[in-house]
Amino acid sequence: MQSSVKPFRLGSQWRTASDGDAVISSINPADGSVAGVVARATPRDVDEAVAIAWDAFRNKPWRKLRPDQRASILYEISRRLKIERESLARLQMLDSGKPWKECLNMVDSASGHFRYYAAVCETWQNEMTSPRGEYFSMALAEPFGVIAAITPWNSPIMNEAQKAAPALAAGNAVLLKPSEETPQLALELVRICMEAGLPEGLLTALPGYGEDVGAALVSHPGVRMVSFTGGTETGRLIARTAGERLIPVGLELGGKSPHIVFEDADLERAVAGVVSGIFGSAGQSCVAGSRLFVQKSIYGRFMKELVTRSQAVRVGLPDDPNTQMGPLVSRTHRDKVAGYVDIARSEGGKVLVGGYAPDEGPLARGWFYMPTVIEGLDNKARAVREEIFGPVLVALPFEDEDDVIAQANDTPYGLAAGMWTANYARAWRVAREIEAGSVWINTYKQSHIATPFGGFKESGIGREKGLHGLRLYTQVKSLYWGMHEKPMEL
Ligand code: NDP
Repeated sequence: MQSSVKPFRLGSQWRTASDGDAVISSINPADGSVAGVVARATPRDVDEAVAIAWDAFRNKPWRKLRPDQRASILYEISRRLKIERESLARLQMLDSGKPWKECLNMVDSASGHFRYYAAVCETWQNEMTSPRGEYFSMALAEPFGVIAAITPWNSPIMNEAQKAAPALAAGNAVLLKPSEETPQLALELVRICMEAGLPEGLLTALPGYGEDVGAALVSHPGVRMVSFTGGTETGRLIARTAGERLIPVGLELGGKSPHIVFEDADLERAVAGVVSGIFGSAGQSCVAGSRLFVQKSIYGRFMKELVTRSQAVRVGLPDDPNTQMGPLVSRTHRDKVAGYVDIARSEGGKVLVGGYAPDEGPLARGWFYMPTVIEGLDNKARAVREEIFGPVLVALPFEDEDDVIAQANDTPYGLAAGMWTANYARAWRVAREIEAGSVWINTYKQSHIATPFGGFKESGIGREKGLHGLRLYTQVKSLYWGMHEKPMEL
């Protein structure tokens, strides 16, 4: 098995397995087979990687390149990601179990991030501030130096690109720590970046465990900023260490997003939006619309249609073009999701559809779980409050606008929300009251590279994407240029 172990790169060296035979095996969630084996990084590698990254930041032609020169390399990365679209999507499918179409979308999104931040890099304008004396002053966006980017398993390559593209565009050197569940795409991204002309050491992937390599990165004195996407509890831990070290963090954390259907909504579209909002990516999405609120006057009618549509979701193998929902990422995660459904039952919830893992046919070999809709719980139940991160929707009726705003906001999370209504004045009122970083009106889970993304409350700190996404990886330096006619007076 060792001969097929994928190495990771530290500067000009390849690491096959730095700690004896330490490797990480990525398991294909569709059938439990081994999708790939990568050499596992250790905290010792972190020390070396940080030193290499600082050397590259200080001495390699990157941060001092003209922005248009930096941009041309970022464009080239984008182009190469497109060229390798299918093979990267295939690897992603094996690593994560996502259906084929979703995998292609992830690679396209990664490519789009490099294209967008190439454009931002080239067109970025520093600020001239208006003078108050015999000088002029300007505010420059400067890179931090070496930053750590730690990513989860649910959208490999897209999550890594969402951090690496703006951080590199800003002139930083980046140390990527992908999830141990999906380590392969980050290695491919590094290869493509280098083939596109990114100087060695500017981007390093360290496929290791969170509790050792992730923690070592966050506490390393050479790491000046941490960008993290993952669970809220891990985010809290990282923020604590970063707080102690007084370094900035960008945190994209969990969610339990309310999805609201008012009685005046176009019900056909609303049902379709609710179904794709929760069952897309098998619910393994931080913005999954996992708490459904339906106005009482239409509750019965809406739920009947929702059950029919949920039963019709095509659960299948990721490489089947008809598949709408694939497996969950691991057996452990599927057990966690199933455990939440058991908790919901014990709290008095009624499972209207789903609520089991298929145990016959080809799906029995993977970590599948059927689309599940539960009702009869109140807003305090654990299945309503906690992030399940699977294809499980809890439905609650509501009376009116005030009632649904209160229920929707009664959560520690604040990542996203959605609503369906024909009344745009109401949509405006409710959207302004909802405590969430993104609100979708008569649509759901749309995502645009140029639109900022991030959470309120315990869903995060800072914004990725758009111009905010570049600012996250910069610190401001102010320059004063003296224009004195005479020597300065005391
Ligand atoms: P985790 O928080 O468990 O892990 C995320 C990453 O952090 C992984 O690379 C993990 O490594 C690493 N990690 C774990 N412990 C530490 C530590 N002590 N110090 C440093 N790094 C550590 O999340 P999951 O991977 O399970 O991802 C699911 C979560 O991500 C969900 O809660 C979801 O809501 C959230 N998420 C948020 C998004 C957003 O944009 N807001 C987008 C996507 C997901 P390892 O894999 O080895 O454990």
